Amino acid sequence: MSKNLNVKYEGKPCYNIRVESSFSSLAESLQEDLDNLQRKVCIVTDSHVAALYLDEIASICGDLFAKVISFVFPAGEASKNMDTVQKLYLSLIENHFDRGDLLIALGGGVVGDLTGFAAATYLRGIDFLQIPTTLLAQVDSSIGGKTGVDFQQYKNMVGAFHMPRMVYMNTATLNTLPAEQFSSGMAEIIKHGLIRDEAYYRWISDHREGICGLDPELLEEMIYRSCQIKGSVVEEDPKEKGVRAHLNFGHTVGHAVEKLSDFRLSHGYSVALGMKAAAYLSKKLGYLSGEDISEMLSVFASFGLPVSLPLEEDSREILQATKSDKKMAGKQIKFIILTAVGTAQIYREFTDEDLLEAIDYMKSDVPETAGSVAKKTNAEETGL
Ligand code: NAD
Ligand code: ZN
Repeated sequence: MSKNLNVKYEGKPCYNIRVESSFSSLAESLQEDLDNLQRKVCIVTDSHVAALYLDEIASICGDLFAKVISFVFPAGEASKNMDTVQKLYLSLIENHFDRGDLLIALGGGVVGDLTGFAAATYLRGIDFLQIPTTLLAQVDSSIGGKTGVDFQQYKNMVGAFHMPRMVYMNTATLNTLPAEQFSSGMAEIIKHGLIRDEAYYRWISDHREGICGLDPELLEEMIYRSCQIKGSVVEEDPKEKGVRAHLNFGHTVGHAVEKLSDFRLSHGYSVALGMKAAAYLSKKLGYLSGEDISEMLSVFASFGLPVSLPLEEDSREILQATKSDKKMAGKQIKFIILTAVGTAQIYREFTDEDLLEAIDYMKSDVPETAGSVAKKTNAEETGL
């Protein structure tokens, strides 16, 4: 079992995304996708992932490359900053890394964004590749070349576009991923169906049991189809001038609640709630039916995603936080709505009253879905 997909950049083939169910093809893939193996490699990872996968990756790389070192930082978003990047630069300088050498990002989106940014800036840019180990990183953050770190309280404020040389994902790494992290990735996957591919959305809905049970074939199919969608959107619009903005469906209000929760509410949970608010507005414009929304919320619930906001915040406070997000076009909020299940559009005309209604709706309980609890994978419930 394996699948391969090439992502183009500026019309030319750029990098392969390899979807595998083990690390057994990693050596071969590195040989195929990198022209030169006579180089030094630094495997960058976080403390959780290092304990699980660093030895295996270091041993595979040790047989191929001239020299292998690793750089491990404490797991969590709090490490995604310039301080960690500076420590990484220092380690690269001390180990005499030059332009021809390579960084490998082994981990979730935090590791991928930070390593990509260090690779984009060290000596004005060196090669890097991604080995994403969270569902979110596999279907979202490892594809598209957006790299960066947080600056003070501002998320992803400093960054660069830098394409990886390869993305190698082993779906078996999802077996060790906490359930909340799995659910978080599912929000982006459901989003891919909702904005771009109705048939895929129906397929996810039909296979919810098997996906929650981590069926390897379903996971491979799902990750591949999501990579195709994200890949095609970024090929069309690499620098987010148009259609790439559709990927922000659910993220406008989502970012606001994520921030107001002080990031205790995971990204995917926040995005699911943001999608609920955006679906309400899509219905208000006459594009979605009440049935479409109930079905969407039932899909969320099956994957352990919230269907109502578990925070006390006042709706006006959420509105303010939404309006202070960087995705504003001038004074008007650039909102992504669905014009049908499977197609999205940018909409800039919502008033504060429209948004407040949507936020109130997002906060409300939805009785018919509240009872359908997700099948958990392998970890405990979130504290929220
Ligand atoms: P993360 O990298 O913090 O990973 C979540 C947690 O899971 C961490 O504790 C990590 O150590 C652990 N983990 C990772 N893989 C594991 C595994 N296989 N088994 C057990 N534990 C594992 O978070 P994330 O959700 O992967 O990524 C979030 C980040 O991605 C945010 O910083 C966000 O800004 C960024 N992001 C970037 C893009 C982009 O286009 N570049 C897109 C979306 C999100
Ligand atoms: Zn997201």
